[in-house]
Amino acid sequence: MMDVNIIGGGVIGLSIAYELAKQGLQVAVFDRQQFGQEASWAGAGMLPPAKLECATTPGGQLRAASQPLWPDWSRRLQEESGIDNGYLNCGGLHVALSEDVTDWQSYVEDWRKTGAVVEELDSVALREQAPFLSEQIQSGIYLPEMGQVRNPRHMKALLSACAQQGVSLHAGSPVVGFEKAGERITGVQTPSGVHQAGQTVIAGGAWSPEVLSRLGIQCELIPVQGQIVLLSMPRLPFCQVIESGRRYLVPRSDGKILIGSTEKQAGFNKQNTAEGVAGLIAFAQSVVPGLKEATFERAWAGLRPKSIDSLPYLGRVDGYQNLIMAAGHYRDGLQLSPITAKLIRQLICEEELSISLEPFSCRRGIQFD
Ligand SMILES: Cc1cc2nc3c(=O)[nH]c(=O)nc-3n(C[C@H](O)[C@H](O)[C@H](O)COP(=O)(O)OP(=O)(O)OC[C@H]3O[C@@H](n4cnc5c(N)ncnc54)[C@H](O)[C@@H]3O)c2cc1C
Repeated sequence: MMDVNIIGGGVIGLSIAYELAKQGLQVAVFDRQQFGQEASWAGAGMLPPAKLECATTPGGQLRAASQPLWPDWSRRLQEESGIDNGYLNCGGLHVALSEDVTDWQSYVEDWRKTGAVVEELDSVALREQAPFLSEQIQSGIYLPEMGQVRNPRHMKALLSACAQQGVSLHAGSPVVGFEKAGERITGVQTPSGVHQAGQTVIAGGAWSPEVLSRLGIQCELIPVQGQIVLLSMPRLPFCQVIESGRRYLVPRSDGKILIGSTEKQAGFNKQNTAEGVAGLIAFAQSVVPGLKEATFERAWAGLRPKSIDSLPYLGRVDGYQNLIMAAGHYRDGLQLSPITAKLIRQLICEEELSISLEPFSCRRGIQFD
């Protein structure tokens, strides 16, 4: 019998498993397919800066608490797995394309309020620092503390570190039901049988409502499709993340560039559309004209798990003494994964919580049939 069963082996489930196993707990993770193949693989891996002392909202607090954990988290994973997750402090340029950012000054002000270092660039400074940008772009800000991680490598590192820590990893094991005794979940049911544990964590990303429905629980969480286009160049003209509104370019150290992303409610559909791919390529060229020469590598889409108010559900589920939820991280799941793992460990091990879980309570979006 395990201490903890985790349903879902994306970045959230595996990060929690790693954190709990480091604490000496016996942990099992179940995924209906191979681990880390959904949103956690598809995302861009941007890690925007934020300072905890400046955070004024629960979401801002969570982001700011997670950001400083990344360097040590990445180093530990590399030591244990031998895999470099590509964590990098690459800096970020935010620019104003008119259709993306309507009120530039308040956008800049909002960034300053996060406590991040913000360097404002006028058109002259922009030409000097970023000659690769389109001449149509007249203003920008530079965020020297912006980071990035390579999701697929991060998932491999996490998986390997979990295995090193003795986590019991069940790929191709969909959880199709639960074993219960009164107000306790005693086990999860998979095609290979019932696996028992003292606590159960639901980390099924956009599929969490389906998992909860097997307990007669309805959960307000929807998949939001995001498409990404991958280009490459032998020598990239820039090395910092470039953002304009909700779209961005993320350069990797091997000459690849991710262009993201679209945002659409399309159920569980992960097809790329002509409009989505063409729109992203047009966006990239309008920001960095030199990308006209880039090679088209491929495109993909992933499903961001969006809760009722875009904040994750973190904490115990009413009606059960030992059921915990960690899902709904929407656009920030990579960034928020270290703090999510830490908070769920604190909850399970009955330690003092670094952040109150009240704003992330499952009561916001959960109803019983
Ligand atoms: C295009 C795009 C760009 C993004 N960019 C960023 C970014 O730059 N920075 C950032 O921080 N975040 C980003 N995100 C968001 C981030 O990727 C997600 O928030 C995060 O991956 C969610 O992780 P998860 O583990 O909850 O979900 P997932 O990775 O979707 O994992 C859920 C897992 O549960 C499994 N599962 C489902 N049902 C069952 C079942 N019944 N039994 C067992 N297993 C089951 C699935 O197979 C899956 O592996 C982006 C997302 C997308 C799509």
